Amino acid sequence: TGPNADTLVIFGITGDLAKKYLMPALYHLAAKDELRTLILGVARSDWDTETLRQRTRDAVAEHLAQTSSEHGAEVDESVLRGLTERMTMVTGDLNDPQTYAAIADTLPPDSFTAHYLAVPPALFTTVAQALTKAGLNRDSRLILEKPFGHDLASARELHRELLDCFPTESLYLVDHFLGEEPVRGLPVTRFGNTLVEPVWNRAFVDNVQITMAEDFGVDDRGSFYDAAGAVRDVFQNHLLQLFALLTMDAPVSTEPSEVKDEKLRLLRAVRTIEPTDIVRGRYHGYLDTEGVRPGSTTETFFALRMRVNNPRWAGVPFYVRSGKNMPLTSWEVVAELKRPAVDLYPGPANLIRFRLEPSVGLAFEMQLNEPGAESGSAARLVLGADVEDQLGQGHEAYEHVLRGAVAGAPGQFVRFDVVEESWRIVDPVIDLTTEPEPYARGSYGPEPAQTLPGAGGWHPLADAVRPGGVSE
Ligand code: NAP
Repeated sequence: TGPNADTLVIFGITGDLAKKYLMPALYHLAAKDELRTLILGVARSDWDTETLRQRTRDAVAEHLAQTSSEHGAEVDESVLRGLTERMTMVTGDLNDPQTYAAIADTLPPDSFTAHYLAVPPALFTTVAQALTKAGLNRDSRLILEKPFGHDLASARELHRELLDCFPTESLYLVDHFLGEEPVRGLPVTRFGNTLVEPVWNRAFVDNVQITMAEDFGVDDRGSFYDAAGAVRDVFQNHLLQLFALLTMDAPVSTEPSEVKDEKLRLLRAVRTIEPTDIVRGRYHGYLDTEGVRPGSTTETFFALRMRVNNPRWAGVPFYVRSGKNMPLTSWEVVAELKRPAVDLYPGPANLIRFRLEPSVGLAFEMQLNEPGAESGSAARLVLGADVEDQLGQGHEAYEHVLRGAVAGAPGQFVRFDVVEESWRIVDPVIDLTTEPEPYARGSYGPEPAQTLPGAGGWHPLADAVRPGGVSE
């Protein structure tokens, strides 16, 4: 862990990320008295400190109006006042050294600073180098939002350039997915339960299916999305991070560096994904989206097969799919266990489901004797729990991100060597120029993806995980 920051500088305070996520998270943290830093906003737009404070109030009000059914929260005026009084605006272009001089003038002397880059990725190196020139890289850390490069070579280059400015332990790479409660909680679920950990290996697991489905399209992000595609947008980062947490060996301790070492070791054992391992899809109408290049071969869906070449997982196939315009929004991991070695009562396999979205849940699907039937007639029993129902709601992802960024808690940030290893895994399949398979909006993707896990296909997704059961 690093020092607690006295000041949080948010570069790009006028942008979308700041409005949608950072400002509301700052408010929630202030309400819990978990963040007391000064906050400096930086951007080119003609905002003064009063504008920044007013925009923060507006962003918080808008956020609470959208989520009030979940939180039931009214704006707490005294919290909001306390927060906005700690905010100051510095206006300037990040290509201009004067901007950094103005920041230096505004920072309290002898203090520690968290520099948060909520700016386009093309500016990452510019800002890091300018901070260094101005001496602002000392007594500070740099927090960056994805994307970290667009392939292995560019990620390596970015890493090299940033290391000239900040030591590796001062680079905090945000993957907000790691701030989501069920993802943060995975190591506890896995390593804290004798019901899970002893069977979580090739001796008992037949295959694992991971789905990240979204029931909406690319909307107004056409040009951004078209340059990325589904594999870059969610697999290289979020899904591989989830995958590493799901499959890594137990760390020696809960120290963040030990956990990251285990993630890296796991990812190094993942076979590079080849074009024959993936089915790419594109929903009907995607090419008509504003910002999408004519003749684009970008995928909006993929289903792929992964293998891990280590003693825990050798021979176990992992199937991962994600797409836009699928029938529902759902993120789920389903592990199918092997049948008993001597199968006296043949029936469906045991399943373990981790559900991340829309609600957080855990379910075990087992078989019991059908009540009233002759012995040997199997009925499926679901032992399921909605986690929030039983344990309550946690923090939003960006609350964890900002709290960790300020407090110097690196646990949920990604290490650059892990990022590079993730790019290595996807490198052969991120720039394929073959036509993606077409699929209808509101479907589970193109036909060839349906049988990727074998003739049985994909396990139906749960629409709820609750004490009563799991149903499609
Ligand atoms: P955005 O809406 O385009 O905002 C960019 C910000 O950077 C604005 O505040 C802009 O302010 C500032 N900026 C741009 N060029 C500048 C310059 N030369 N000098 C000073 N300020 C400059 O972008 P965003 O969506 O917030 O994204 C920011 C970062 O977060 C990106 O790395 C993105 O990939 C990442 N991210 C965003 C989201 C999201 O939901 N939005 C989610 C995950 C990750 P002015 O125009 O006022 O100068």
